[in-house]
Amino acid sequence: MAVTVRTLDNFIGGEWVASTGESVRAVVSPVTGETLAEAPDASAEDVGRAVAAARAAQPKWAALSAWERAKICHAIADLIDERRADFAHELSLEQGKPYAAEALGDIDETAENFRIAAEDVKRMETAIIPSQDPNKRILTFRKPNGVYAGITPWNFPTLIPVELIAPGIAVGNTVVMKPSEWTPIAMANFMQIMADAGLPDGVVNVVYGGGDVGERLVTHPDVDCVGFVGSHPTAEKIVRAAGLKRSLIEASGNGPVVVCEDADLERAAQGAVFGGFFCAGQVCCATERVLVHEGVHDSFLDEVLRAAAAWRLGDPFDDSTLVGPMNNEPTAAKMDRHLEDAVDKGANIVLGGSRAGDRPTRLYYEPTVVTDVGVDTLINQQETFGPIVPLIRVRSDEEALAVANDSHLGLQAAVYTSSLKRAFQYVDNLRVGNVVVNDSTDYWEAHEPFGGASGTQSGWGRIGGRYTMLDMSDLRTVVLDVGGLD
Ligand code: NAD
Repeated sequence: MAVTVRTLDNFIGGEWVASTGESVRAVVSPVTGETLAEAPDASAEDVGRAVAAARAAQPKWAALSAWERAKICHAIADLIDERRADFAHELSLEQGKPYAAEALGDIDETAENFRIAAEDVKRMETAIIPSQDPNKRILTFRKPNGVYAGITPWNFPTLIPVELIAPGIAVGNTVVMKPSEWTPIAMANFMQIMADAGLPDGVVNVVYGGGDVGERLVTHPDVDCVGFVGSHPTAEKIVRAAGLKRSLIEASGNGPVVVCEDADLERAAQGAVFGGFFCAGQVCCATERVLVHEGVHDSFLDEVLRAAAAWRLGDPFDDSTLVGPMNNEPTAAKMDRHLEDAVDKGANIVLGGSRAGDRPTRLYYEPTVVTDVGVDTLINQQETFGPIVPLIRVRSDEEALAVANDSHLGLQAAVYTSSLKRAFQYVDNLRVGNVVVNDSTDYWEAHEPFGGASGTQSGWGRIGGRYTMLDMSDLRTVVLDVGGLD
């Protein structure tokens, strides 16, 4: 029987509107290989209409009190909870992440982001500043920045959009979202929930497409600011195209994990394996390389192999699956290339190392552990973004720091040590935005500030709770002369 494939509409000004774009992309499930939907690329006219809707809605939305905006954020969170199971099911099918082990958690954290935004926006206090003139009072207020273009990737197709949307709208901005072309369905489902929860028309709008549509949106003259999460080459293109528009940029990582001689090796191995295999390694702060002191290398490897045995590759809808398929072929092909390069340069594959056969698609990659990875490899120098735990031997803390910092990326690092003094040597000297001590690079909390270190290509600004709100709003300073007032 022929299956009817759903065509995604843009969401503009509170309505689902058929795209006027001419090209259409098939959205194919990495889990089953079936076509789930078709997403037309938005035309210039579609983008213009979405921006106009966001522009028209913005002053009315910003004029509501923080309490009124917070109420809507809470309503959205409640409706996400209500639709949790279906929302997570479609997320797994489109993205590939395990339903029970990951997708449900993504949806819960998506709701949590709205709750955090709703509560934080009520406490956005600002300073009253003493004046040198006795007749003057200096006050500061937080004002939204206006209309945002939100450009997001495919690895967390609800969680990353919400990191921009929830704090962004809570503080009074409006948004036009352009989700990843690999995962537009998650954004469509998410938009439906926001609309059903009572979000006023035009506050969030959605258009679909790839880089061309993204660029059209970013450069639209009526878009004030850009919120971008994705790879560093795209970040650079966007910043160049956006010119002086304000931007929040969250880009790639190359997460080093340092395992010191005095580390709890079992714990370090569990953290490295979690960071390597969670979301099939497709996380900006994944374990991309493990720098292990040579004195504990072999014992650590034993612990890694023990921990890795629990990470079963399989159908994301089987509750015992911890690793699902990778999301898309270009990313899986990059994993192939990085492995081949490492092996050519002397690395040894001790677990996995290839795509699994007999699966519905070629995207099921075996969880992989590699040893003797050289610093001259693509694995060490670039983000791999696949299910891999690569071990690099180091002889000292100085060498570990040098290898970790010899990178154009600097997002999140992890250090395993039982010495507080040593932990702070790393905290003080690693060139990353975030350091986790004695837990995985994949450890984060929704409200903590997260972002790249300056001097690297991992981006700027901070994602996370009120820190995003600070980025997505600005201070309005008011000087009041009360000398002549009654
Ligand atoms: P990507 O850069 O290929 O795409 C991201 C988004 O940018 C997509 O929506 C894409 O359509 C759009 N885009 C592409 N070219 C554009 C252009 N010229 N103008 C405007 N938009 C354009 O990244 P991806 O493959 O979707 O995501 C994976 C990357 O995202 C990894 O590098 C990962 O580290 C990074 N990431 C970073 C964070 C973070 O918080 N720092 C979080 C998740 C993912």
